[in-house]
Amino acid sequence: MASIFSKIVDGSIPCYKVYEDDDCLAFLDINPNSFGHTLCILKREVDYLFDLNDVEYNKLMNFSKKVANGLEKSVTCKRVALSVVGLEVPHVHVHLIPLNSMSDMDFSKNIQLEKKDFENLALKINSNIK
Ligand code: 5GP
Repeated sequence: MASIFSKIVDGSIPCYKVYEDDDCLAFLDINPNSFGHTLCILKREVDYLFDLNDVEYNKLMNFSKKVANGLEKSVTCKRVALSVVGLEVPHVHVHLIPLNSMSDMDFSKNIQLEKKDFENLALKINSNIK
């Protein structure tokens, strides 16, 4: 069965899209740890990061760096952290989490955003990606 993120890729589930290229897609995490929490995925469905071939691994990491640079310009944070977990969704994804304190890395803590906040944030990050 297709992962929830493959359904986002094929458009059958909506997302707040931040950026995409031919191979990768960035969208806002629906249950963010902090303001700006973004997920970067490879469009091809692979469960585990370290099963990616070198070409796809490098594509995802370079894509994540590009998005992180735009994200950092879009929100107030000390830096953007990168984390790969994958215990909930078995489709490789990089978490980009704007950090103001270590507690922003706590996945059991979440912030609430309105639809309009998500939409404006996704547009703002997109406009800062060069
Ligand atoms: P992990 O698999 O790395 O443990 O966590 C999966 C992440 O995906 C979580 O941060 C969760 O909030 C996010 N997530 C799960 N389902 C959806 C979804 O349908 N849309 C979006 N945008 N994020 C999701």
